[in-house]
Amino acid sequence: MSQTRSQPRSRLIMGNWKMHGSLADNAALLGGLVAGAQRAGDAQLAVCVPFPYLEQARQALAGAAITWGAQDVSVHDRGAYTGEVSAAMLADFACAWVLCGHSERRAMHGESSALVAAKAVAALGAGLTPVVCVGETLADRDAGQAECVIGDQLDPILALGADALSRMVLAYEPVWAIGTGRTATPEQAQAVHGFIRASLAQQGAAQTRILYGGSVKAANAAALFAQPDIDGALVGGASLVADEFLNIAAAVA
Ligand code: PEP
Repeated sequence: MSQTRSQPRSRLIMGNWKMHGSLADNAALLGGLVAGAQRAGDAQLAVCVPFPYLEQARQALAGAAITWGAQDVSVHDRGAYTGEVSAAMLADFACAWVLCGHSERRAMHGESSALVAAKAVAALGAGLTPVVCVGETLADRDAGQAECVIGDQLDPILALGADALSRMVLAYEPVWAIGTGRTATPEQAQAVHGFIRASLAQQGAAQTRILYGGSVKAANAAALFAQPDIDGALVGGASLVADEFLNIAAAVA
């Protein structure tokens, strides 16, 4: 379902630093983002940083028009879960966002769609906005199974209902486009975003924002953002360079 922007959903450009950074590198990156944040215009800017750097992000971004979050969250509130980080702990660091079900976690850590939905619930319970990632592999796409796979990934999320859906963000990230330099064409991306939008609409949550992710750069951002159901971007590699990330955000304008 394509929607016009007569009732616009606010655009969101979110960086996913993955396991990159150091105190020194982050200081330069965050400083560059703060200095250039106005280039994003009406688009919201956010960065999802590694856990150890949440306090650094909190201090560097306090008072700036850039919010921050984490890349994963435990389903548990507390307890003997070595290595896990709870949603309440993220809230302690004023996180606004947490990624749930990034394809790297689904693939490398065996996260099921049911677990991803439970993580989204945990995030919502602590007042965070989960950014739930879905996407097909190249084999899925080549087999004509992209919508089927994404539909399966969405099912436990959609089952959470309209209220929960209205308090989250979805991200469509085709696995074959993440970190590969190969981006979905705007038409390919829009087709999946339209499918996701229709699925959300059936649950009464048509206004939930849907980000596109997968080798987004300043050079391809404007064409993606011109699509009616693409509400922004989840940006990996290009979010590590302040000027490139800000140029992506500026492409919304
Ligand atoms: C991501 O990590 O979510 C991502 C989209 O990475 P990249 O932009 O590097 O493809």
